[in-house]
Amino acid sequence: MQKRQQIRIDGIVQGVGFRPFVFRLAKSLQLTGSVLNSNTGVLIEVEGSIDDLSKFQSRLRQEMPPLAQIIDFHSSEIAVKNDDRFIIMQSEHKGESSVLISPDMSLCEDCLNELLSPADRRFQYPFLNCTNCGPRFTIIAGIPYDRPKTSMHVFPMCEKCTSEYHDPADRRFHAQPNACPDCGPHLKIYDREKRQVNTENPVKHAITLLRSGRILAIRGLGGFHLVVDAKNEKAVEELRLRKNRAEKPFALMAANTDVVDKYCKITHREREALQQQTRPILLLPARPSSNLPKSIAPKSKYYGFMLPYLPIQHLLLQEDFELLVMTSANFSDEPIVIGNEQAFEQLRTLADYFVIHDREILQRCDDSIAIISAGQQRLLRRARGYVPAPIIIKNETSTPILAVGGELKNTVALSKGKKIMLSQHIGDLDNPEAMNFFKSSIKHLQTLLEIEPQYIACDMHPEYLSTKWAYEQFLIPKIEVQHHHAHMASVMAENDNTRKTIGIILDGTGYGMDHTIWGGEIIIGDLKEVSRFAWFEPVPLPGGNAAIKEPWRMAISYLRHSFGDAMHKLTLPILRDTKPNDLQLLLQMLEKKVNSPLTSSCGRLFDAVSAILDICPKITYEAQAAIELEMSVKTALQRNLAYPVKIDNYSGAVSFVPLIREVVNDKIQNVPNEQIAARFHVTLAEILVSLAINARKEAGISQVGLSGGVFQNFTLFNYLNERLRGEGFHVLTHSKVPPNDGGISLGQIAVANAKLS
Ligand SMILES: [Zn+2]
Ligand SMILES: [Zn+2]
Ligand SMILES: [Zn+2]
Repeated sequence: MQKRQQIRIDGIVQGVGFRPFVFRLAKSLQLTGSVLNSNTGVLIEVEGSIDDLSKFQSRLRQEMPPLAQIIDFHSSEIAVKNDDRFIIMQSEHKGESSVLISPDMSLCEDCLNELLSPADRRFQYPFLNCTNCGPRFTIIAGIPYDRPKTSMHVFPMCEKCTSEYHDPADRRFHAQPNACPDCGPHLKIYDREKRQVNTENPVKHAITLLRSGRILAIRGLGGFHLVVDAKNEKAVEELRLRKNRAEKPFALMAANTDVVDKYCKITHREREALQQQTRPILLLPARPSSNLPKSIAPKSKYYGFMLPYLPIQHLLLQEDFELLVMTSANFSDEPIVIGNEQAFEQLRTLADYFVIHDREILQRCDDSIAIISAGQQRLLRRARGYVPAPIIIKNETSTPILAVGGELKNTVALSKGKKIMLSQHIGDLDNPEAMNFFKSSIKHLQTLLEIEPQYIACDMHPEYLSTKWAYEQFLIPKIEVQHHHAHMASVMAENDNTRKTIGIILDGTGYGMDHTIWGGEIIIGDLKEVSRFAWFEPVPLPGGNAAIKEPWRMAISYLRHSFGDAMHKLTLPILRDTKPNDLQLLLQMLEKKVNSPLTSSCGRLFDAVSAILDICPKITYEAQAAIELEMSVKTALQRNLAYPVKIDNYSGAVSFVPLIREVVNDKIQNVPNEQIAARFHVTLAEILVSLAINARKEAGISQVGLSGGVFQNFTLFNYLNERLRGEGFHVLTHSKVPPNDGGISLGQIAVANAKLS
């Protein structure tokens, strides 16, 4: 018996080859009907036997194109029409649109084969792509996603490209960025004086320059990279010098996973993660035998590796290099450079040569950073490959909410129904360029979702530039969200979980409900509200922000807090090496309580211990002291390593004096840092486990959420996560958004939505 079904699909289903796929699938099952792009996604009508219709539905999900993502799937039975075939119909554009756009994806296998086949018309053409790969988010000015609304609008397609574009049987059917050497963008090379280098083959020339140790600024997908030969120690050091970047690790691009395996131990899961089309930079444990230049990642036990995702990267790495340093082209924490002119101006002192192209980058987008931990991929920076795919929540927002995020590692987010669209990583708002990026990202999200926010969710911190901006939007009501509540809500929202939770929030800095600086918090509650169950006993932060940049200050603060005047008798390197004048000044500051706000920050506890152990008394990049403390742990953490500290009050303010005393004692006894650092991590985790058990007793909740910047420490995260599960807790962890402040905007929306409903 014949039946007819109407299927509505919402999700990332346009511009990704979905219609031709449906067309081929229907034909192979001898079904009749139609498929078309609608304003909400894709609309399909299919007619055939019940058996074939059910095969169609299951194969639709199983075999859909790689870039497609289904969010909603509605199927209903309608009257039989007795068509004689299956057709692709003209798009239907009416009313408000909620079509989602795919993130940018790495070159697919088919395109790679064409790139490397001398007989193909796109042989060695650096801008080839198809519906299964290539640029999307970074070339879009507006919607609907059609060529005129992308930076490809200045390249009219040639005859051959046009016929591919209109042929449903072709891989390039409706591929908006479709191009070839005859009609598309091209590469050029310039020197730093902005003189064009005369060359037939810019890629070959770039290889020659890299071989001779030159630093190249290469315009990519979401911005410029600075690139050098990773095996040329002098070149890597020169890059470090010019970038004024003393110690922060550089990312590497390897030709393939076998190359990565030479330098890092990689698991099967990690190999897969490197090869996925989102192509994040993956943090991988370095092999001790690795003989790469020290200056690539000094003091780190990880290398950040990615595989080529652009045609030009494949061409550079094909035969001539197996490994390149590939780092964002910017000064310290400024946003990555995207424009050609901007590059000539701003990167003049950094790069020797510029490899540029004429396909404009409309949305800046950094490389994403991820790690595989406890069997899952965890994002530390969410940008290329992931944005603008939305986070989906069941508890849909009834009104559009804009969240403006935090201050550092900022992202913004906008909600529409059950979709929450996060911006790419914007960065630290304290420079004008980043603030412009922040504003344009908000505009762009509004364009993509075609809505105006009715509420703005922001942090409670009155000095955050994001909060200040929110209050400049006079007409839109604001909802303030406490920083650590937002952290907890972000881990709940990405797991689509609304149950009562014990939040273990370990963070650097956040404005507390009592107007002091929080950061080591055990909170209990839900998306709507939380109460503070326990927190790290506050200690002074001498010099305020200066103490964040100079961890030795935090060490002195904790030593004074833990030993009083007896601290002067301690034979610690940090006391020996601090200039007597500086020490005196700092102690007076603490004594008189001048410019020494109290903080319960967990990040500052790590800073203090790192400086007490003389690992990192001064930092050159954010969180360096904490990172190096983690890096000094060389053994697996085990419960029996915990210091025998007794913490009296297992709620309220929890004192870390006993732990600091143990650490100091061991340091004085010349116990190796490696051991002390391991014992510190285990003890801290055990204290947190005890606090969680107490919170469970008191509140009758056995779900824990882990969030906050300190959870970028995967040594701590893995141990704590496992211990909590062992104690019977249901543990919510981050995988889709970062545990750091990059996830704050998502949490702000979740809290604001709960407060509004
Ligand atoms: Zn492709
Ligand atoms: Zn063409
Ligand atoms: Zn935070």
